[in-house]
Amino acid sequence: MPSIDTKKIRNQYLLLYLFTILITGAGSFYALYSSYVSYEIRVSNELLREANITNVHIEGSLASAQNVLEYDLAKITEQLNAGQLTKESAYKAMALGQRVFNTFIADKSFLLTLYVDEQGVLRATNNSAEVDPINLADRRYFQVLKNNPHRPFVVGNLVVARTTGQFTFHIAKSIVDKKGKFRGVLVQQLVANNIAKTLKKSLDGLSDLQILVHVEGGNVVFVYPELTKEDEIQSVTSQGLSEIIRRDGGHSKVMYIPSSEEVPHARYLAYAISEAHNLETSVSIPRSSLRLSFFREAYHLILYILLSGIAITVVVWRFYLYAVRNSMAMELSYSDELTQLKNRRALDAELPALWKESMRSKNPISALFIDIDHFKIFNDNYGHDCGDVALKAVALAISACVTRPLDICCRWGGEEFAVVLPNTDEAGAVILTNQIMDAVRAIRFEFIPDITPHISISVGVVTIIVTKDNEGDNLIDMADKAMYKAKQGGRNRYVIYTK
Ligand code: GH3
Ligand code: MG
Ligand code: MG
Repeated sequence: MPSIDTKKIRNQYLLLYLFTILITGAGSFYALYSSYVSYEIRVSNELLREANITNVHIEGSLASAQNVLEYDLAKITEQLNAGQLTKESAYKAMALGQRVFNTFIADKSFLLTLYVDEQGVLRATNNSAEVDPINLADRRYFQVLKNNPHRPFVVGNLVVARTTGQFTFHIAKSIVDKKGKFRGVLVQQLVANNIAKTLKKSLDGLSDLQILVHVEGGNVVFVYPELTKEDEIQSVTSQGLSEIIRRDGGHSKVMYIPSSEEVPHARYLAYAISEAHNLETSVSIPRSSLRLSFFREAYHLILYILLSGIAITVVVWRFYLYAVRNSMAMELSYSDELTQLKNRRALDAELPALWKESMRSKNPISALFIDIDHFKIFNDNYGHDCGDVALKAVALAISACVTRPLDICCRWGGEEFAVVLPNTDEAGAVILTNQIMDAVRAIRFEFIPDITPHISISVGVVTIIVTKDNEGDNLIDMADKAMYKAKQGGRNRYVIYTK
């Protein structure tokens, strides 16, 4: 008879649960991981594309500006060499330069063209010959060209223009006279935020995307997203990315940069080098932002994984409860409700195995059939409820004596009990019978105060060694027959079965 073992069932289902969760979890993890890897590749490619777009864009603006400066410079050098260079002549040359330029290229980033003399003082712009003589001698482009007037051009770093207050960077060329002497610079302003606005249209809109364009020495020329307040410019640094790119030495590449002192947050970076203007464009995104945007994009997959986990948990839990309930029902169907002993069905289920084992091992098997004497009278005298209490007490007395693990003790029905004792010879069966009879005799009922009714039992005892010849015999039937003889013999006794 199956005996309920909730712990065993729980362990089995726990194992099943863990196994299913492990398999599904591993599959889900793999799916999530591989989609993260492809997302990473997609973003990396996007970063590279954006680095190249920015690079081409800035190079284009600088090349156009250089053309304008070239055009203006030819005129201004001519004027200088003829001794005719004045604020007005410079203004006219520069105004014409931008007009000519604007007829075939419309670059929204272009602002002023500046003529700055050899002292660094602003003399004229393409808009006017009457300008405030602002001193621009501290600008990087001025200093570089002053020290090295034969450099073809210099790209200046990102500044707030003193003329217009806009975030600008510059490309400048030196004005050199016949004798090769430095006589000032021509400068084209480029509005960084206008370039940023144009670029925005071709970017993917990844969050926390940062674009930096550096010129030699790590000076920042351009930054994306666009700056809004003047004091923000102080916080713009190349963050060491410039050095990392220079160290890498390639032309255009995507790389992962772990966090370090130079780069406080680990990030993915794509760069493109502009050889024409010696610029490095880096497009980077912090790894944390990439992960966050991945999770935002992959939320349906994560939701599906969570739902699968919940579904598996619910299904396994329900099956577990079902199994527990099933085995409890099984247990109930094999037990007697009143006495909590096994019932006749349980004995019928278990006896054949013991019977066969006795035949195989040639060991004796014994059975006792127990019937309470005059139980009808007891019931009539004290009532059915007291009869039930008495039945329970007798059941307890019998089961307390039947202790071996393979012994079966059951309520056969009514006021009758059957006991099967494998590996027990007749002497052993008789000892146990006496113990049971004594235990029953010793039963006292506190609920019957005046008299103490005696309960006695009649027992039929049978012991056989199962062989081919008696294989078909019915052990309980034989014990019952012996019990009948005990009744006939006057009750409150046992009789050993004889044919
Ligand atoms: P005998 O000594 O010949 O066995 O006499 P008896 O009265 O015990 O035998 P009988 O077969 O005439 O009566 C059995 C009685 O057992 C009938 C019934 O009152 C009682 N009995 C059977 N099952 C139950 C039960 O579940 N509860 C109670 N209270 N009594 C039961
Ligand atoms: Mg009876
Ligand atoms: Mg009876």
